[in-house]
Amino acid sequence: MKNLQLSVVQLSEPAKTLRQEIRRFIYEEQEMGTFEPKCDSWLSGYSPNFSRKLGKRQWIGMTWPKRYGGQERSSIERYIVAEELLAAGAPVAAHWIADRQTGPLLLRYGTEHQRKFFLPKIVSGECYFAIGLSEPNAGSDLAAVSLKATKVDKGWILNGNKIWTSGAHFAHYMITLCRTSLKNPEDRHEGMSQLITDLSAPGVTIRPIHLMTGEHHFNEVIFEDVFVSEEMLIGEVGNGWKQGMAELAYERSGPERFLSTFPLLEELVNTLRLNGDNQLLSQVSPLVSNLWTLRNMSMGIAQMLEDNITPDLAAALVKDLGTQFEKQVAEMARLLVSFKSTDLSSRLEKLMSEAVLHAPGFTLRGGTTEILRGIVAKGVVRT
Ligand SMILES: Cc1cc2nc3c(=O)[nH]c(=O)nc-3n(C[C@H](O)[C@H](O)[C@H](O)COP(=O)(O)OP(=O)(O)OC[C@H]3O[C@@H](n4cnc5c(N)ncnc54)[C@H](O)[C@@H]3O)c2cc1C
Repeated sequence: MKNLQLSVVQLSEPAKTLRQEIRRFIYEEQEMGTFEPKCDSWLSGYSPNFSRKLGKRQWIGMTWPKRYGGQERSSIERYIVAEELLAAGAPVAAHWIADRQTGPLLLRYGTEHQRKFFLPKIVSGECYFAIGLSEPNAGSDLAAVSLKATKVDKGWILNGNKIWTSGAHFAHYMITLCRTSLKNPEDRHEGMSQLITDLSAPGVTIRPIHLMTGEHHFNEVIFEDVFVSEEMLIGEVGNGWKQGMAELAYERSGPERFLSTFPLLEELVNTLRLNGDNQLLSQVSPLVSNLWTLRNMSMGIAQMLEDNITPDLAAALVKDLGTQFEKQVAEMARLLVSFKSTDLSSRLEKLMSEAVLHAPGFTLRGGTTEILRGIVAKGVVRT
């Protein structure tokens, strides 16, 4: 059985100062009325203006090399900025995916041309990416990906569909996992590649899939004879599976996997406190202690990234626990509020409806609970 070792992180003085800076910035933005706290803001709080402001403050691509516009700050410092923005429910969806996983992917596997072209634009909060993994017949079973890339002179021609693509309607590019050679029944992970696709290219159609609430969050993306230049291949032809798995570790490892409903938890605790509802507050306290544990685990993962250790197993574990926690917050708020007949603030009502309506997706997106538990089970018995 393999041990899961997550270190307990002590914050340095510069990290503590950074926390004060980002808190002050958020407070000032809220005072100016730039945004209202929102649940699930990292996936549905779209504001290019806010992303550009963060870019100006050098809070995007913080850990990346200075030659690409980054700040060479630590993963723990990046964690602090992410945590504060999520806790405040700030509108960070526009740049979130590019900052979280596209940049690290390009730093690890991209060409120098790709890094120089994309990273400075991401850092300034002006260039957004979508994740092109899921297809109508490939979700949990990602090895079933069938979007076809046919080699032509100086590039590839793409045909096929992606589905559930968050933010494709505002993203400029998508990292598209596709088949560059036929499926090998002996090894289904072979023959996949990652291409950077321009979502405004001729032949790309983006169809909205509306949520039950009418919100437009994700899409179907259809490729019909779309030409992609060979310069847009990431890494090696046929290495897409391995690269995609490395990208997923970034996708699963951050504090957004347990903080999507934090603004609701905070508002709920404040409301119960104001009303002197100590009995109900005691119902919420186990959630707060769970939050504390998850936070320490999540910071341990940030430390793994800092130490150049791929946190795939730990990320799967924390994502599983974290997304269940986010759902519990929504459910607890719903139960307590329906039990109590006191007046609710409009903010609590708004946050609760956002949390309740978005909660079903928490344990699906980025890999379902069942799939994550499979990874954890296999990971801990590996020697
Ligand atoms: C809000 C949201 C945003 C998303 N954004 C994106 C995005 O930007 N880009 C993108 O590519 N995808 C995105 N997705 C898609 C997401 O990654 C898939 O929904 C997820 O991987 C599951 O795939 P599926 O929907 O095809 O379900 P399926 O794979 O069909 O699974 C259905 C059910 O069967 C279970 N199951 C499947 N296989 C097994 C197994 N082997 N053992 C046990 N149980 C199993 C699953 O756990 C699940 O409960 C998003 C999804 C949501 C909800």
